[in-house]
Amino acid sequence: MSDTFVIVGGDAAGMSAASKAKREDPDLDVIVFEKGEWVSYGACGLPYYVKGEIEDIEDLVAVPAEEFREERDVDLRTHHEVTGIDPDGKSVTVEGPDGSFEQPYDELLIATGASAIVPPFDGIDLDGVYTMHSLPEGERLKGILGGEETHPDAEISHPPESVAIVGGGYIGLEMAEAFSGRGLDVSVFEMLPHVLQPFGTDVAEVVEDHLREQEVDLHLDTAVERFVGDDHVTGIEAGGETFDADMVLVGVGVDANSDLAADAEVDVGETGAIATDEYGRTKYEDVFAAGDCAEATNVVTGDPTHVPLALTANRAGRAIGQTVGGGDLTEVGDIAGTAVVKVFDLEVARTGVIHHDEAEEAGFDPVSKTIKAPSRAHYYPGGSPITIRLTADRESGKLLGASMVGEEGVANRIDTVATALHAGMTVEDVEYLDLSYAPPFGPTWDPVLTAAKVLRGQLD
Ligand SMILES: Cc1cc2nc3c(=O)[nH]c(=O)nc-3n(C[C@H](O)[C@H](O)[C@H](O)COP(=O)(O)OP(=O)(O)OC[C@H]3O[C@@H](n4cnc5c(N)ncnc54)[C@H](O)[C@@H]3O)c2cc1C
Repeated sequence: MSDTFVIVGGDAAGMSAASKAKREDPDLDVIVFEKGEWVSYGACGLPYYVKGEIEDIEDLVAVPAEEFREERDVDLRTHHEVTGIDPDGKSVTVEGPDGSFEQPYDELLIATGASAIVPPFDGIDLDGVYTMHSLPEGERLKGILGGEETHPDAEISHPPESVAIVGGGYIGLEMAEAFSGRGLDVSVFEMLPHVLQPFGTDVAEVVEDHLREQEVDLHLDTAVERFVGDDHVTGIEAGGETFDADMVLVGVGVDANSDLAADAEVDVGETGAIATDEYGRTKYEDVFAAGDCAEATNVVTGDPTHVPLALTANRAGRAIGQTVGGGDLTEVGDIAGTAVVKVFDLEVARTGVIHHDEAEEAGFDPVSKTIKAPSRAHYYPGGSPITIRLTADRESGKLLGASMVGEEGVANRIDTVATALHAGMTVEDVEYLDLSYAPPFGPTWDPVLTAAKVLRGQLD
C-alpha cells in the first residue's frame, strides 16, 4: 500500500510540497485540505488588484485547482478545515461539507500560513474596517471602492473617498499606493517614529518624504486609540485627536497560524511560529511545517526567525515535498529575510541583519555606513539617487545586512548583497566583486561597491 502525505493549507508552501512530492513519487497519495475556496494564489498581488492594475482575481492564481486534481493527481479538498492533529495516532480531524472525519497520515505537513493581526481597539467590528490578507478580502475591498457594496443604514452610503491606514508596514504602504491610485485621500498612522521598521531609519526617511510628496497624510509616532462610528466607521482617534475617514485598513502585521500545532503539542518557538529543524521537521519526525506558520534559520545569526515571505514558503514546501516523495532528507535552506517593496515611485529593499540591537544580541559588533550614489552614470539621462546602508561586524568584517531605496536599480542590487550574505562574505570580499557596468545601468563603481568601500574604511 502506498504512503499517505497529508497537507494542511493549500497555498504557497502546501501546494509546492504537494506538486514536488507527487513528481518525485507518483504512487504517493497526496491529500491537501484547504479551508477556503482558493488554492495556489498570490496574495502578494492583492494591492495591485485593488489598485486596478490587475483586472481579474483569477489572474492571481498560479495553478488552478482542477490542474492539481486532474493533471497532478493531487487529492485536493477545498472547504475542508483541519481542526485537530493526533501525532501519536498519526491522524488529523477534518471538518468538511459532509461533516467531521479522521484522516490517517504517514507524513503530515502543516502549511497553515499566517493571519492579519486584529488589534482589540474599540470599534474594530464597525463596518468599513478591513484587513488585507486573503483573496476574498481583496475582492470585497475592490467591490466597495467601485461602489458595489455600501451599508444601507450606515453614515457612508457612497463609495469611500478617504481611508485611514493603521500601520506603516509594507502592506500598509502598498495599500496606500493602491488607494491613492483609486483617488482616495490617504492617511497613514504609525505608532513608531518611522514607517517600514525592518528597513531601518535611513531608508524610512526617504520613503516618508516620498509619501508626503504623494500627498499621503503621514502621522508618525502616533498610536491609534479607537475607531469612531455607530454602524459604519467615520473616523479614528489617534494621538489624542480625531481624524475623519470613510474606511479604515488595519495593517499591523501578521501572526503565524500555529495554534493547531500548539494544541497537538508540536513546539512553537519564541517568535510564535512553529519550531522546525533544517529539514522543516517539528519535534515529530513525520510532522513537517513550512511557510508563514513556521520558523526558519537566519543565515547571518544562525538563530530561528519568523519572516513570512513567499519564496521562503515555496522553497521550504518544495524541499519537504522532495523529502517525503524522494525519500532523501532535503534542507529547506536558511533565509536572509530579503524583501523588496514598491512604494509609489520608490523601490525599497532590505536583507540580513540591519538593526544594531539585533546584531549585538547575536554577538556581533555592528558598524553601519549610509551612502548615496547615482543609479546611472552621471552623464546618462534619467538617473536618480540610491541610498544604501550597509552593516558589518567590526572585528571579522563579515557583512551582516543592507537596506536600500531609490527610484530604480534597487530590487536587483539587494540581491547582490543577499547572495553575499549566503556566501558568508566580508565587506572586503564585496568591495572586490566584479559587478557589471554600462552608463544606463549604473556608475562604473556600482553603488553596492561604493557602499562596501566606504564601510570598509570605517572598519580599518
Ligand atoms: C497583501 C499581501 C502582500 C504580500 N506581498 C508579498 C511580497 O511582495 N513578497 C513576498 O515575498 N511575500 C508577500 N506576501 C506574503 C506571502 O503572501 C506569504 O508569505 C505566502 O503566501 C505564505 O504562504 P503559505 O503557504 O505559508 O501561507 P498562506 O498563503 O497564508 O496559506 C495558508 C493556507 O492555509 C489555509 N489554512 C489555514 N489553516 C487551515 C486549516 N486548519 N485547515 C485547512 N486549511 C487551513 C489558509 O486558508 C490558507 O489558504 C504578501 C502577503 C499579503 C497578504
